[in-house]
Amino acid sequence: MTTEQLPHLLQNLAKMNLGRVAFDERLSPYNSWKLGGTADLFIEPENSSQVAEVCRYVVAHEIPLVVIGQGTNLLFDDAGVRGVVLRIGEKMADITISGNTIIAAGGAWVPSLSRQSMRAGLSGLEHCIGIPGTVGGLVMMNGGSQHHGIGENVVNVTVVDQRGSIRQLTQSECQFSYRYSALQGTGCVVTSVELSCPRGDKREIRLQMLADLKNRRHKFPRKQPNCGSVFLSNAEMHATVGPPGKIIESAGLKGLRIGQAEISRQHANFIVNLGGAKSSDVLALIASVRQVIWEKLGFNLCCEVRYVSPQGAIMAAHIKADEFQENKSSS
Ligand SMILES: Cc1cc2nc3c(=O)[nH]c(=O)nc-3n(C[C@H](O)[C@H](O)[C@H](O)COP(=O)(O)OP(=O)(O)OC[C@H]3O[C@@H](n4cnc5c(N)ncnc54)[C@H](O)[C@@H]3O)c2cc1C
Repeated sequence: MTTEQLPHLLQNLAKMNLGRVAFDERLSPYNSWKLGGTADLFIEPENSSQVAEVCRYVVAHEIPLVVIGQGTNLLFDDAGVRGVVLRIGEKMADITISGNTIIAAGGAWVPSLSRQSMRAGLSGLEHCIGIPGTVGGLVMMNGGSQHHGIGENVVNVTVVDQRGSIRQLTQSECQFSYRYSALQGTGCVVTSVELSCPRGDKREIRLQMLADLKNRRHKFPRKQPNCGSVFLSNAEMHATVGPPGKIIESAGLKGLRIGQAEISRQHANFIVNLGGAKSSDVLALIASVRQVIWEKLGFNLCCEVRYVSPQGAIMAAHIKADEFQENKSSS
């Protein structure tokens, strides 16, 4: 595909029956940092067949494709995405529970999943109650809290692969580890997940969830747009100098501001958008924090947050931040 062919190819794609489609859609409403440019074509499918149609078409025509959920772990570029953004959200969000088994669609909201499991007297998902993403994003990132990850409860994951085929991957095939699943970088779209959760005491589960939510309200910035924890913890760093938030705070970086992006004054592992922040402000801030921590402590902070390039590549945001910094220094 050439750049000249792209508009025509996208026009043809948009004519198919794919759910909601929109051209030149602003991406800021679709990510929790509330920033980024526009997507050439934005699609919100209603079922797996529509997802498969999109996958087949973009692969056949070599069109960049970015799959998103709630955008709570994503940093879009100021230039947006020159291709298709496929959002798996509210239109694919069913949750069914039978015995110990939960089947959740890729677009289901994680706090709803936790709450429904609690109501059914199932435990294991207490740690997810405050995670504001979708089930698809959670599985992709093996998200979780309190030293847990969703992968622990996964039986299998149903995906649409790049060829548009529907496949089921077992828990072991997903190779879950800390904020990682083998699904990352495969181009697979998570359409549903089967979870197995043991029975628990409903009251106890509820109390744990309430405690988690209270803790988050107290610790995390709530009013300023953010993407949760920016940097990953690592065992060696944690044991010697502490978690990222603590070491960034100890380095005196709370409140450091570039453009309209700022290291949160409430929790130093959060970067907040003060209003009108650019993706480049966030990248510059990530690069500055990394440099200071490297110089002071010799630890290389890696990002949990993922950067989305205009060409549709998704990578840990520190990779782009380093590149951004190098280009700035050499220009
Ligand atoms: C206030 C706040 C608190 C947070 N707390 C936590 C926490 O405690 N623990 C934690 O782990 N995370 C946390 N996060 C980060 C984030 O919510 C999780 O990573 C979440 O699981 C991401 O889901 P999402 O739908 O927003 O995914 P997105 O941000 O939209 O996408 C994340 C990644 O998953 C991919 N993806 C999304 N949906 C699909 C799909 N259906 N199929 C294939 N790929 C897909 C995207 O391409 C991208 O690579 C927090 C974020 C915020 C803003």
